[in-house]
Amino acid sequence: MELLPFGVLPPYRPRKFLPQQFDLGDWKQIAPLFDQLETCYQELKSQAELERWLLDWSELSAALDEESSRRYIAMTCHTDNAEAEQAYLHFVEKIDPELKPRQFKLSQLYVAHPLREKLPKERYEVFDRDTKLHVELFRPESVALETEEAKLSQQYQKLSGSLTVQFRGEEKTLVQMARYLEETDRSLRQEAWELVAKRRLQEAEKFEDIFDKLVQLREQIAKNAGFSNYRDYAFRKLGRFDYTPEDCIRFHEAVEKEILPVVRELQAKRRSQLGVDTLRPWDSAVDPLNRPPLRPFGKVEQMTDRAQKIFDNLDRDLAEGFRRMQDLRLLDLANRKGKAPGGYQSTLAEARVPFIFMNAVGLQRDVETILHEAGHAFHALATREEDLYPYRGAPIEFCEVASMSMELLGNKYLEEFYSTPDANRARRTHLEGVMNIFPWIATVDAFQHWIYTHPGHTREQRKAAWLELMDCFGGDVDWRGYEEIRANLWHRQLHIFIHAFYYIEYGIAQLGALQVWANSKRDQTAALNDYKRALKLGGSRPLPELFQSAGCQFEFSRKTIEPLAKTVREELAKLPSS
Ligand SMILES: [Zn+2]
Repeated sequence: MELLPFGVLPPYRPRKFLPQQFDLGDWKQIAPLFDQLETCYQELKSQAELERWLLDWSELSAALDEESSRRYIAMTCHTDNAEAEQAYLHFVEKIDPELKPRQFKLSQLYVAHPLREKLPKERYEVFDRDTKLHVELFRPESVALETEEAKLSQQYQKLSGSLTVQFRGEEKTLVQMARYLEETDRSLRQEAWELVAKRRLQEAEKFEDIFDKLVQLREQIAKNAGFSNYRDYAFRKLGRFDYTPEDCIRFHEAVEKEILPVVRELQAKRRSQLGVDTLRPWDSAVDPLNRPPLRPFGKVEQMTDRAQKIFDNLDRDLAEGFRRMQDLRLLDLANRKGKAPGGYQSTLAEARVPFIFMNAVGLQRDVETILHEAGHAFHALATREEDLYPYRGAPIEFCEVASMSMELLGNKYLEEFYSTPDANRARRTHLEGVMNIFPWIATVDAFQHWIYTHPGHTREQRKAAWLELMDCFGGDVDWRGYEEIRANLWHRQLHIFIHAFYYIEYGIAQLGALQVWANSKRDQTAALNDYKRALKLGGSRPLPELFQSAGCQFEFSRKTIEPLAKTVREELAKLPSS
């Protein structure tokens, strides 16, 4: 049975270092290649030889990355296929743990090499600082702590994932309950929301227990690496060379001063459209005019064709890329039995082509997802010429500029899917979503800054800090009667538990995307040319330069946010709400 939707895809560059044929799922065949790189290292005599060595290492890393992606894709496309599952698990359990120390060893060797200093600075500075950091932060005494941290993260996921409620005689997961918040019957929404929120609240103690242990471990890991607090450690660990905790605090302030007024206006409008005195927590997802959901397409082929037309309208190169993806069957978009949930874009790193996975069912959300994932795919296609494997990927702060920009840019042509009134409704919903997420990002980020700069805090102090942030960023929502739920709301935010400090990236990227979009309103061709030029850089330059190439400022204070909030407000004013 053919498990992958695409056929044979040859390596983008013919293999020079790797054997033409070998089994990438067999550690016995992989290990000698690492041995060989370590042996060759001893004989590197010139800068050119060191560069060649880096490319050989890149070739190996890309082939292994692609193997892992192929197995992941096969499994998510066929969750009911035992063979696909086995193949994926084999890689995760047998290959990955062997790989990690060997890759780390090569990083160490690179950092120790005397010729490293001779490499052209402009070309290698990003790779060099990332690799050096990776090596420097490693502490053997933290390995066991990190394993413990991973186990606790898994406990959090298990606990969250296991929660169900009885709703109208049926057992439902919390994820399944989300759709009831879009129902026009207000009491039904309330019932669904309460069930979910109270179910989570029942586990509050367990969430707190897990979190206390996580904080303790993280503080120890930071100490081992010589940092006085985990915040400063996390900023290094996440490779944040180009912004500081103070920049993040300025972002929080800017969101409060510039975005919250827009959010409050939107909330006031929603209140009047819904005809309610106050907005309750279950009133935010429903269409405020009680209209049925938008129906952008029936069959998934229609979605693909219409998305193609949007790219045709936008830019010839991007359109060409998406057409190639169709030709090579690098899309698996329809929802069907036996597919994993959700959507993602993955890159086959040796063939250097992107793949998009989705579960489209005919909702506006699917249109947003295909535009978003296509943005990531365009990024992957743009870096095909880059031979240094680490440079074919950019930092998340910029990867999401590629994808979020595409949502905003593509929205201009939503008439490919809808009548003009429906297209405007979709645009409005999208822009409102963009505004509404900023205060939540600021809340989650500011909360983590507080947590890791207040060592030894009590649960009560933590709760008070959270509530203070909710007061600041929560907007005009009426929580009366649900105070405990509000005080524990952060328990549902997975990042706080399992990806500490990782969340503001989305806010930073959204600011970039809004700038690309604002530029396109002045000159669409120029904005798209900048966008493509920046994508092409992959991860080869620091963030401020990637943003600059895309025609954006890498800056997240009021100076940047104020004009963007204004543009969004003007755009919303232009879109009729009925
Ligand atoms: Zn994304």
